[in-house]
Amino acid sequence: MNVIGKLPFVIATRLSQQIRNMSLVRSLAFVNNQWVPASSGETFEVTNPANGQVLGQVPDMDVDDTEQAVNVAFEAFKTWEHTTAKERSVLLRKWYNLLEDNKDEIARIMTAESGKPLSEAAGEVAYANGFIDWFSEEARRIPGEIVASPTQTKEMMMIRRPIGVAALITPWNFPAAMITRKAGAALAAGCTCVIKPAEDTPLTALAMADLAAKAGIPKGVINVVTCSRKKAAEVGRVLCTSPQVAGLSFTGSTNVGKLLYEQCASTVKRVSLELGGNAPYIVFESADLEAAVKGTIACKFRNCGQTCVSANRLFIQESIFDQFVAKLEEAVKGLKVGDGAAAGVTQGPLINDAQATKVKQLVEDAVKKGAKVHLGDVDHSMRVFNEEIFGPVAVCIPFKNEEEVLAIANSTRSGLAGYFYSNNLSQIWRVAKRLEVGMVGINEGLLSAPEAAFGGIKESGIGREGSHYGIEEYSYIKYLCFGHD
Ligand code: ADP
Repeated sequence: MNVIGKLPFVIATRLSQQIRNMSLVRSLAFVNNQWVPASSGETFEVTNPANGQVLGQVPDMDVDDTEQAVNVAFEAFKTWEHTTAKERSVLLRKWYNLLEDNKDEIARIMTAESGKPLSEAAGEVAYANGFIDWFSEEARRIPGEIVASPTQTKEMMMIRRPIGVAALITPWNFPAAMITRKAGAALAAGCTCVIKPAEDTPLTALAMADLAAKAGIPKGVINVVTCSRKKAAEVGRVLCTSPQVAGLSFTGSTNVGKLLYEQCASTVKRVSLELGGNAPYIVFESADLEAAVKGTIACKFRNCGQTCVSANRLFIQESIFDQFVAKLEEAVKGLKVGDGAAAGVTQGPLINDAQATKVKQLVEDAVKKGAKVHLGDVDHSMRVFNEEIFGPVAVCIPFKNEEEVLAIANSTRSGLAGYFYSNNLSQIWRVAKRLEVGMVGINEGLLSAPEAAFGGIKESGIGREGSHYGIEEYSYIKYLCFGHD
C-alpha cells in the first residue's frame, strides 16, 4: 500500500498589490444593500495563505449584527416572495451577466484569499456563475401538480411556495460556487438569504454581493454577514435558532454540520447539509490506466485535494497495482507547487496552518504505521485511511476482487462521492448501484455541474444542490383543496 504526495510549501509574492487595485474588494459587510461595519466596530484580518500577507480587514460581526441581518431578510421576503418567476429570472440573469463581466477580478480575489491557482480559480468562477445562469432559467420552471380528485365536489392541487429566509453557511474551499449553488436556488424559489461566508474567504463573497446589488437585486434579498472563527459559533446559533429563518443550508465539516443540525431542531427548520466525504476511487483491472491516472490527478489534486468530493482512498486491483502507482508517481512529479498567482502553478498552498499541520500529521501517522512515502504502505488503522484528508496526498491500497473492495469502500459513515474505473459493463452497473454514495463518477474524476444533483447519503448530508432538485430545498409543497357544488 502506497502514499504518493506532494506537500506544498509557501513562497512570497506580490498578491496584496493586486488586491489593492481591485474595484470589487470590499472591507465592510453587506446588509440591506448597504455596506456596514460590525456594530462593535471589530474587524478581523483576511490573509493570503501563499505568503501570510494581510489582504484586508472585514467586520467581525456578532449576535446583534446577525439578528439585524435576519430581520432585514425577513422584511424583504414579504415583497420578494410575491415577485413573479420571470422577474426573479431576469434579475438572476443580470447578476450572472455582471459576474461574467467581472470573472477575472473575482478569480484574482479568490486566488489571493484561498491560495488556489489562478487557472483553478477561473474554473471555479465559471462553475459558480453557471449556477446563477442555471437557476435564472429554473426560476421559471417550478411546477405544481393537479391530481385526480377522489370526490366530485373537490378539486386538488399542489403548488410550490418559497420557505422564507434561508441561512447559508459556506466553506472556504469553493468561495464562490458554494454561495451561488445555494443563493441561486434560494432566490429562484423566492427566498431571501443571509450568507455567512467562511472566515478565510469573505472577500469573494462580498465581491459577488456587490454585483448582485448592481444587478438590481432588491435590498435585503441578499445579505452577507462576515465574522471570524471566534464568532462563528454565536453567529451560527442565531441563524439556526431564529424563528425568522426558515431553512439552513450548510456546506462544511461533518462535526459542525451535526452541531447545526441539532441547533435547527428547536425551530424545526428545513435543513440542507453537504458535509465531509471519504470518497473511494477504485481502479479495476479492466480499466484504461491512462484515463484512471488522469482522473486521479483531477480528482485528488484539484484544489490541492481540498474538495469534499476529492478521492480520499485509492483502491487499485492487485494485478495492476505497481503499474498504476508508477504511472501516478510520474504524473504527480509533473505537478508544480507554488503561489497560485504564479504561471504554471498547479498546487497552491493549503488554506491555513491548521490544515497544513493536519495533513502533515496524517502522513506522519501513516509513515509511523509503515506507509512508504514515494511516497509507503497503508493499513486500515491509519488515520489517513479513515479520515478525510483534504490535502494533496494519494493513499493507494491494493485489493483482490470486487466483493472485497465494495465491502471496504462502503465501510465508512461517509457517503458523498465515489469513483471507479472499469471497462466491464456488467461490473459498471453492479458497482454503480452498490457504492453507498450520493454521486458516482464512472470512468470520470470530475462530476460537478449546475445541471446535476450534488449531495450525499449517510453522514455526508441531507438534500441536493444544483439541478432542478436544488430548488426543492428552498420551497415547500402547499396543497390547495377547492370545494364546489
Ligand atoms: P473547515 O474545517 O473546512 O473550515 P467548517 O465546517 O469548520 O469547515 O467551516 C465551514 C463553515 O462553517 C465556515 O463558514 C465556518 O466559519 C462555519 N462554522 C464553523 N464552526 C461553526 C459553528 N459552530 N457554527 C456555525 N458555523 C460554523
